[in-house]
Amino acid sequence: MFQPNQTSFHYIYKFSLCVLALALMLFSLLPAEVGAATGTVTGSVVNVRSSPDGNANIIGTILKDTEVEISGLAGSWYQVKYASLQGYIARELIAPRQQVQIKDGPVNGRSGPGTSYDIVASLGDKIIFTVLGEQNGWYQIQLPDGTPAYVAGWLVTPINEPVLGTQPAATAPSTAVPSQPAPAAANPSVILNGTRLQFEVEPRIENGRTLVPLRAIFEALGASVDWDGTTRTVTARRGAATVVLPIGSTSPTVNGKVWPLDVPAKIVSDRTLAPLRFVGEAFGGKVDWNEQTRVINIACAASEVPAAVLVTGGSINLREAPSTDATIIDVAQVGEKMTVLAEKNSWYQVSRGGRNVWVASWVVDPLTDATAGDGGNSSPNNSSEPAGTPEKIETENPEPIPDSADINRRGDENAAVAKGFIAISTRLASDGYRLVMKTGEAAEPKITASRDGKTVTYTFKNTVLRSNRDEAYFYIGSGKNAKAAISAQTMDDTTWVTIEMPLAYQYTSTVEADGCKQVFTICSQLTAVEEISLKNGNQIIVLRATSAMECQESFSDGKITLNLNKTGQGIAEDSYLFSGLAGRVSINENSENHSLQVKITPGSNLDTWQVNRSVNGLKISVILVNKEVVEKEPTNNEDGSDSKVTIMLDPGHGGRDTGSISKSRTLYEKDVVLSIGLKARDILEKAGYKVIMTRDDDTYVGLSERPAMANKAKADLFVSIHCDSVESTEPHGTTTFYYAPESNQTLYAQEYQRSLLADLLQKAMLAKCGRTDRSVRQNNYAVLRESNMPSALVETAFISNAEEAQLLATTDFQTKAAQAIAEGIQKYIKLML
Ligand SMILES: [Zn+2]
Repeated sequence: MFQPNQTSFHYIYKFSLCVLALALMLFSLLPAEVGAATGTVTGSVVNVRSSPDGNANIIGTILKDTEVEISGLAGSWYQVKYASLQGYIARELIAPRQQVQIKDGPVNGRSGPGTSYDIVASLGDKIIFTVLGEQNGWYQIQLPDGTPAYVAGWLVTPINEPVLGTQPAATAPSTAVPSQPAPAAANPSVILNGTRLQFEVEPRIENGRTLVPLRAIFEALGASVDWDGTTRTVTARRGAATVVLPIGSTSPTVNGKVWPLDVPAKIVSDRTLAPLRFVGEAFGGKVDWNEQTRVINIACAASEVPAAVLVTGGSINLREAPSTDATIIDVAQVGEKMTVLAEKNSWYQVSRGGRNVWVASWVVDPLTDATAGDGGNSSPNNSSEPAGTPEKIETENPEPIPDSADINRRGDENAAVAKGFIAISTRLASDGYRLVMKTGEAAEPKITASRDGKTVTYTFKNTVLRSNRDEAYFYIGSGKNAKAAISAQTMDDTTWVTIEMPLAYQYTSTVEADGCKQVFTICSQLTAVEEISLKNGNQIIVLRATSAMECQESFSDGKITLNLNKTGQGIAEDSYLFSGLAGRVSINENSENHSLQVKITPGSNLDTWQVNRSVNGLKISVILVNKEVVEKEPTNNEDGSDSKVTIMLDPGHGGRDTGSISKSRTLYEKDVVLSIGLKARDILEKAGYKVIMTRDDDTYVGLSERPAMANKAKADLFVSIHCDSVESTEPHGTTTFYYAPESNQTLYAQEYQRSLLADLLQKAMLAKCGRTDRSVRQNNYAVLRESNMPSALVETAFISNAEEAQLLATTDFQTKAAQAIAEGIQKYIKLML
């Protein structure tokens, strides 16, 4: 909890000191145990089964490179544990972590890989450690408290088979206080996240099983505990997790999944005692039981981690690991709620569709325990995930690059903020980048600008940042030179929000919501004026900006004039001189009304011209058509078909890969997109184009095979056809994807063509099919990444939305979608080929 008079900076500082002190204290007092054996999942999507048998029920799936705990061996299967998932995975799909055993111990554990480093632990004889890494002949191992230590390679024996279970491991170095083994008869004591718990009824060991007071521990974990006297059932909730434990039963459930117990919970003096592992781990904690000291150590993630997160804007990336460099494996849409499993480096690991994926904390809104569990009339819970993703079928494997709107969106400007606090949010709005400083009550911040106009500071008295999520630096804008940095900091009850811009950008500073919202909007800024020469002699002038541009164009005296409202000059030059048709481009800024006038004086060969605004408004292109260009005819040349434009159409999925299935389970994506694809082919063939299909019947085609076919056929363009689908039934509309990231030079060279193809397809789809515009976005789909030619992927509509699924099933809609795709393709060919 934050106190209004305490700065978050101080809070974090104190908090880390506290954690550090705790870690030191625990380790020096308690000899503890080795962590269980772990291993890394090697298959791409691996099924977890209820028993060691390939026909057993699939109870979950785990992605490649996930580290799991190996808790047992059963023939060719490992028994594994991951978060609250426990089951069996085939041994060939797991690479166990290397383990080493101490020989002739005790030996020294050191803080670094060499004898000159401090001794941090004494490692007992024959003890087995899991190896974290190797350096200069030393092994890095993990001490029981989680801190790493190093042991010389010549003091250990490597072990090949994983050794399971826990064993006494390390004792403190001799300088530390020696531990005092408690008398064997003493009741175990429980330390939860470093705090020793007091109980009315003490933990006890019965028949070799440790039983601990359930309510006291659950409540200390921040869970709510209800007791139903009629059914004699305990129901505990923490975040999105629900534990149901009937007294006397050995089958309690955690989020609806049975968690088998050796011995049932029982009531002693009106208190429920339940098996230690269950109580400690049901909410995702870790339990260490030290036989000698009779100390039970439970570590459970702090409640700072939200129980669930909500996607509030745009599509967001779901990645394999907690980093923006990690592969993106899926995309979540607005309105989706995902259960949080863990947090790491400001990323949340969430559960979605039976998979565990990572999402950046700054692109989602945390749901508190109260809001996460609300409703009750919505879908039963988040845990009833589809079990078992097929292991063999390649999925679309999207590893998207979000469009700039998603990258730069942060926080929710309408989130509730308490008195005395301030929350920061940003989003790309229609009039520019919008920074909202929301306060719990009307505020009158002091606003100051530096003399050069590049830095603006808001000073809020008696106001502190709502959380450290609001504190860090973040950037807005797109393109290397178009960034502005925003930082916020609280000290001594005062919060400063600073906006630093690379240039004196045009901005507006307004107040909304009765003084509770200070709004700073950076107007769209022109960042580049580029020229593209096409093989056919046409030229294109491309204007790029940091946010949406509005454009009105006119032609007089041989000049094309573009009036861009609410757009500043940014880092664009005053004038550009291009050879050929493009000629001279000059830019005049009117800072009074935040507008630009762009004048193009084209060469004398200009026949016609056309302005094309991208769907998101970030790009405006002027296509200049050369008089001497003869439009490429789709009809065949006398000397063969080589000069024909070749179109590759790719209906997604097929065969055993059904694609998404409607909620009614009656409509398969593979069938819908094949029908649309075949209709589009017929239209394009009638118009005289050469069309090749990746599939023209219900057969399975691998993901990489598709672009490979197009590359081999030297297709001029590639269009993939899909239906969208998410867990939620709400999302609807049309999205078109392309892929041309700056980081990939080959693809980036086609950025204009690729985005134009996607843009024209999206516009035609919107016009013909009338669905909601979900915009043109970048997405790292294999088919888009591996195709050599301009390519796009159309998500026609949502098969997961009942209304759109019904539409998708109709011949009428399929025909319209096919017409739209054919039209978009033809427009592209006319302009570019
Ligand atoms: Zn699909």
